[in-house]
Amino acid sequence: MEYLRRDVLLGLGALLAGSCASDRRASRAPLAPTAVDGPPQQLAPPDLRSAPPFEVVVGQRPYRRGRVRLELEWLRGRPWVHNYGHGGAGLTLALGTALEVRRLVGDHVAPGAAVVVLGAGAVGLASALELLRGGYRVSVHAEHFGPRTTSAIAGGQWAPSLVAKGDDAESRALYLRVLADSRRAVHGLLGRGAGVHERSNFAPEGHGASLLDVPDGVLPATVALERLPWPGTSGPGWARRTYLIEPRPLLGWLERQLHAGAVPFHQRRFDSAEQLDTLPADAIVNCLGEGAGALLDDRELRPLRGQLLHFAPQAHPWLLSYADGYVFPRSDALVLGGSVEADRPGLAPDPELSERILARGREFFGAGTEFGGVAAADSGRRR
Ligand SMILES: Cc1cc2nc3c(=O)[nH]c(=O)nc-3n(C[C@H](O)[C@H](O)[C@H](O)COP(=O)(O)OP(=O)(O)OC[C@H]3O[C@@H](n4cnc5c(N)ncnc54)[C@H](O)[C@@H]3O)c2cc1C
Repeated sequence: MEYLRRDVLLGLGALLAGSCASDRRASRAPLAPTAVDGPPQQLAPPDLRSAPPFEVVVGQRPYRRGRVRLELEWLRGRPWVHNYGHGGAGLTLALGTALEVRRLVGDHVAPGAAVVVLGAGAVGLASALELLRGGYRVSVHAEHFGPRTTSAIAGGQWAPSLVAKGDDAESRALYLRVLADSRRAVHGLLGRGAGVHERSNFAPEGHGASLLDVPDGVLPATVALERLPWPGTSGPGWARRTYLIEPRPLLGWLERQLHAGAVPFHQRRFDSAEQLDTLPADAIVNCLGEGAGALLDDRELRPLRGQLLHFAPQAHPWLLSYADGYVFPRSDALVLGGSVEADRPGLAPDPELSERILARGREFFGAGTEFGGVAAADSGRRR
């Protein structure tokens, strides 16, 4: 598969380099041969037929109405920096919001001070690492770490999906700064064992809006395609270079950096805001994700349930978004997504929903239904 990976990237790289940087509606460019050794005219489709998914995972995206809460508040005599509500974009934005946390803490507390980070998902761990780099004495407190967080459930696409950006100019400017910072920081993790890989993300025309919404200065310009590159698919589409962020490797990498910096981890559940007052710290950084809703009575948090199917890994070097679904081939699983459900609490997999997700994927690739359904896998591991 290695040659395919190189071809896809080189081929699209050539297309991207040749496209007008500011024109998203560039004339459609087929995956034509390049001067190198030619990109493939077609890509191999994923195999969604020969074996059922080995697990079905469910998570609640910490969506916050209005905007991500990224601000400083003085609470009972000490600074709190809130950093939660990243919705369906926590992997995408974690490193950028962490830089903002460091700036906000730095405005009020000098390096060397004790800072408690609440939460050990991608957002909390990334914030803790930035504070460690800033010279603070950091500790992390959370009920769950690594694989048991919502962050470990994420699909792995770098795209600002299902996240509120705010309506006013100030919020929009903050969002754009965080987005650009995040992209730069994610790019800096390439080849460092953090699960970050460059990928071309394909989508049929009219779909994948969250990635199209990224300004051209942040990601390379979108390339319009006369048709999508898989047999059985038809119709125009587009491709854009972005990143695959594998959740578990990223979380593992962040944890390793913090362990190397001797940052203590405390496993603990907080059931009331008063308990937080007892924490010995000069500043508190709140990265509780969905947990911030109940603990701080933030009624803007409206979690969005998501269910994903994990198939045995397949080495495809691309990402794909389509109507109500996506395919993200990762090293630990081929991820078939997914659902977006408001006001549906809980983490139990829904077998009928799994069937619909699978049917959508097969329909997209024009595939049959050779093995039965996915119900047998619904008892699979979840967080
Ligand atoms: C199905 C699905 C697909 C997704 N796909 C993507 C994707 O492709 N790309 C992307 O960028 N994002 C994606 N996301 C979104 C991403 O997973 C979240 O935005 C991200 O996990 C938020 O990270 P976080 O650290 O804020 O929250 P979490 O990972 O939920 O971490 C919260 C932390 O706070 C702790 N905590 C909470 N309450 C308490 C309490 N009371 N006491 C003690 N500790 C507490 C938890 O134990 C945990 O450590 C997806 C999400 C889902 C569900």
